[in-house]
Amino acid sequence: MHKYLIMGMPGCGKGTQSEIMCERFNLVHISVGDILRWNIKNHTKLAARIKQLMSTGRLIPDEIVENIVQQRLEDHDWNYGFMLDGFPRNEAQAEYFLERYDIDAVIFIDVPAELIIERLTARRVCRNCGAVYNLDSHPPEVAGKCDSCGSNDLMLRPDDNEIAIRERLDDYEKKTLPALNLFRQKELVIKVRGDRPIHEVQADIQRDLNLAKYRIKS
Ligand SMILES: [Zn+2]
Repeated sequence: MHKYLIMGMPGCGKGTQSEIMCERFNLVHISVGDILRWNIKNHTKLAARIKQLMSTGRLIPDEIVENIVQQRLEDHDWNYGFMLDGFPRNEAQAEYFLERYDIDAVIFIDVPAELIIERLTARRVCRNCGAVYNLDSHPPEVAGKCDSCGSNDLMLRPDDNEIAIRERLDDYEKKTLPALNLFRQKELVIKVRGDRPIHEVQADIQRDLNLAKYRIKS
């Protein structure tokens, strides 16, 4: 059983690294962002509540996010473990988590802010099917055309402009780094450099987590 949190600034590659880990070690990827997006897409009661709060300029309260995580972990469909991504976002959420759950490690992917900005402004999302591309590292096979659905509508997300990204990075430093420090004090954090090719970052994670011997899929 492997229970991990994965943390890092938006654009650090934690989604990609989570997917590789989950595939290799049969872990369940629990992405709080994906759960929120699913709720919004399916017009759930929770989505209505979140929209209402956000329309008044408020952040999603800790309690809502904590409930999402708690309910998801209670599903117990993670026989081999999980990779929790997008939580905690602040110190209070980290305290909540530490009081209730045991984890094996927190994987922190460290990427310099300038590189994050470079990566995110190169990101394109298919307006039709949601597939994500990166003009530098993962471009579509035919320029401007979605590999998955063939749509010609690949867009830069409105919040992927430099000013908005810097705001997100500031927010991360102010709120999420204190959460990471809490895990550091418990000696749970492994830090890997994320400014390298995907497979090298992944190799570092597996080495630092001592995972080679647990490999169950080749
Ligand atoms: Zn598409």
